[in-house]
Amino acid sequence: MNSNSTTAANSKGSAPFETPDYQKILEEVYEEVKPHIGKGKVADYIPELAKVDPNQFAMSLMTLDGQSYGVGEEQKRFSIQSISKVFTFTMALKMYSKELYKRVGVEPSGSPFNSLVQLEYEHGKPRNPFINAGAIVVTDSLITHYKDEFITLENILGFIRDISQTPDINLNPYVAKSEMEHGYRNRALADLIKSFDNLDNDPTSVVETYFKHCAVEMSTKELARSMLFLANKGTDPLTGKEFVTPTQAKRINAVMLTCGHYDASGEFAFHVGLPGKSGVGGGIVAVVPGKMGICVWSPALNKYGNSYAGTLALELFTKKTGLSIF
Ligand code: GLN
Repeated sequence: MNSNSTTAANSKGSAPFETPDYQKILEEVYEEVKPHIGKGKVADYIPELAKVDPNQFAMSLMTLDGQSYGVGEEQKRFSIQSISKVFTFTMALKMYSKELYKRVGVEPSGSPFNSLVQLEYEHGKPRNPFINAGAIVVTDSLITHYKDEFITLENILGFIRDISQTPDINLNPYVAKSEMEHGYRNRALADLIKSFDNLDNDPTSVVETYFKHCAVEMSTKELARSMLFLANKGTDPLTGKEFVTPTQAKRINAVMLTCGHYDASGEFAFHVGLPGKSGVGGGIVAVVPGKMGICVWSPALNKYGNSYAGTLALELFTKKTGLSIF
């Protein structure tokens, strides 16, 4: 047993079990992943993200009792990009419940995150809320609910601040502007969805709001914290606040598992075995149901747009701890 291990009896009073030394495990993961940090390519289709140093790494986890562990630059904020889709999907599911699925499905797409092709032959109904097309529809549904794009953004920020219990979270306006100036594919997606009558609001204001929530900046420590409600059946274990019902939390985790990494979702489930969501800023969040929230960040991406070193770190973590849903 190492020095930081603790033992506890479970509620049925059977044999004591050992809490792993998560800090030591994260340090081991960090050492093993070091030679791979910087492998891959930073997202350069958003010029502001192309400036990010690829040789950075951080990994954090927080257990349901609020214990937090981490390695690397775990206080440094980065562009959360598509991780924000977990938050907007959660908000929309809470508002619209099953009605939401009339506009966006829950099947893996098997296509890249910004693909237009599938949307054309499936008549403007995106496969799931985590590909760009689906997230654009979700953002549109939030604007319809709040009746104004600025109030929508304020509410998205408010929600993120609430689940992470961090009041000073904000977006980087330069990243949002950079994507607004270069995000031709996303604009095309929004226009195409509108042509199929699956967008209520003006496509330009919808993509603008979408780019803004993608440009939110958070650290791995804050993101690991913000996953706790999903690890605890929809209720924040530290504040007791119910964000979604247990059934909705199950659905969000399921969609993260099957669609959270686009056309590499199968591979992520195969190697890591946890619900997870990546972003082109190099972050990946993951949930260990009943136990913890995790976040890893390293900006260089593999060919699917997911963090190269981050995916490897999560794979090493689940291998060492045996923590996987399978
Ligand atoms: N804002 C990015 C885009 O729309 C998000 C993509 C991602 O993180 N996978 O292209």
